[in-house]
Order: sequence, then C-alpha cells, then structure tokens
Amino acid sequence: MPSKAQIARGVVQAWGRILTGRRPNLSIEITRECPLRCPGCYAFGDNHLGGSVTLRGLADYKGDELVRRFMQLIDERKPLHVSIVGGEPLVRYRELGTILPVLAARDIHVQLVTSAVRPIPVEWRDLHRLQVVVSIDGLPAEHDTRRAPATYDRILKHIAGHRITVHCTVTRQQIRRDGYLEEFLRFWQANPDTRMIWVSLYTPQRGEVSDERLAPADRQRVIDELRRLRPIAPKLEMFDGALEAYAKPPASPAECAFARTTDCVSADLERRITPCQFGGNPEAISRHRLPGGLRVRHILDASEMAGRVVARVRGNGAAR
Ligand code: SF4
Repeated sequence: MPSKAQIARGVVQAWGRILTGRRPNLSIEITRECPLRCPGCYAFGDNHLGGSVTLRGLADYKGDELVRRFMQLIDERKPLHVSIVGGEPLVRYRELGTILPVLAARDIHVQLVTSAVRPIPVEWRDLHRLQVVVSIDGLPAEHDTRRAPATYDRILKHIAGHRITVHCTVTRQQIRRDGYLEEFLRFWQANPDTRMIWVSLYTPQRGEVSDERLAPADRQRVIDELRRLRPIAPKLEMFDGALEAYAKPPASPAECAFARTTDCVSADLERRITPCQFGGNPEAISRHRLPGGLRVRHILDASEMAGRVVARVRGNGAAR
C-alpha cells in the first residue's frame, strides 16, 4: 500500500500533468493476440474500436519493433502510470522483459493485467512499482468454464512466488449461489501469493443482453456482501468510496475519473480507444481506481478543464 506521502506526491504530480494538458495515465493494448475466448470480452467485441475495425483486425508488433514503438509512445506521453492490457500481455513476455525494467528505472507505476495463462517470469517479481493483476472470475467451476486454458490449476502454478493482485469481475453466474463470494474471498485470502484482491462488477455495453449482466437487485446484493465480507478478507481492497461508486456508477465515461485521466491506445500503438478502455458504448463504468491509490476526483473538475484548454492551445495530441 502506498504511504500518505506517496499518495500526496502522486496527486500533485497527476494534477500538474492535467494542468499541462496531459492525462497522467496511459493504457496500452500491447498485443491483439490472446489464447482465451472469454464470453463477454470487451476487447474483442465488434464495437470496441468504434466498428470500422476489430482488435483482431489491427496490425500489431513484435520483437525489437514493439519495444521501440512502445517506448516511443512512453516518451511522447510521459505518463505517471501505465496499464498494460491485451489481448494477453504474456504473449509478449519476451518484449516485456525489456520494457518493464526500463519503466521501473523511470519510476513509472505499471499495472499489467493478465490471465496468467503462462508462467509470470520470475525476474518480474521484484520490479519496482510493478503490479501484476490476474483476472480470476469466480471459483474453479465458473472460472475454468469461462477462461480455459487459463484454468485455476495453471494460475496457481504460474503465480507461485509472486505477489499478485487478484481481480474478479462479478457476473450473474457467480451470485446464483449464497456464500459464493465468501468462498472465493476466503480462498484467495489464504493464498500466499496473493497480495491484494479487487472486485469489480460486470460492465455491459448499452443494450447488451447476456448471462453475465447483473440486474440492479444483483448489484445491491453484491455490494452488501462485499461490505459484510471486508473484515473476513483483509486483502480485499474495497473502500467505502468504491462501494458507493458501484452502487451509483457514473452515468457515462464523461463522469468517470478513470476515463477522464486515462488515454487508451490499441495494439497498433496509434489508435485511441474511446470513450474509455472498454471502447464501444459502455453502460456504466464501475472502475474508478487511479494509480497508487490516488483519489483525484475532487480536483478533476477544476484542473481538467484548464488542462483541456492548454492541450488545445498546444495542439497536444495526448489530451483531447
Ligand atoms: S483473456 Fe482478456 S483479452 Fe483474452 S479473451 Fe479473455 S477477456 Fe478477452
């Protein structure tokens, strides 16, 4: 957990970045490839990139070319925090083996989101400011159905010796049985390779009809459960503010602090993903967490407005 001094320093840095017309966070889909086919995957949805092309249809890069272009993007945008997503980032573990130490040396927070379908390189374990987030959607019966070949057996092997953050997206399938969330949290609380547990609620696209989608009553039940379970699972990082955001999610990305402070770039390392990381037309944004635990919501309205003006005047493509 970051100290108060680190959080304060992060807020000041982020604020400074916003005031100069730049967004402090950069999210990069490092590859279009993924060996999984998860139901409800927004990255491979038809409208993720606006409808004219899909993620699988984009050209992406490998090897030295990927490393060079990735670092060029970092040099241009100068983010404080980088989220590396996919596709499956571990498909490019060799390139990341070069990129991650450079980002660490620059003191950039990095969040790498993976299914842990292959081993997480042991050299990453002690990298400064690297947070490896593993997507685990429920207990083995549900997770393995959704996320094979990244099954529980493999994940447990591949995270051994690391200090991962478990990220679970709650879908309707998971809440049909009483006690399900508690069982999930107890399992990962007891796992020695888990440092932290995050829980999000499934974010549908507008008009989506799917088995994953939570009804309003389901959302409330999950929120009540999480509130009750916090003392049982201290690794669950779930502040009151996050629960409130889940109960009343922002109506659109324009009201979402994460969307407003983050530039999202797809696998060709050029195309922006709008209106936020989900692309397409998301119904509500459940994610509000900012790097290093920052809570900048209250300074956003004033500072972002100023930043937009600065960006326009400078013709800076990094903030629009
Ligand atoms: S692992 Fe991620 S990118 Fe790959 S199919 Fe699943 S949700 Fe989509």
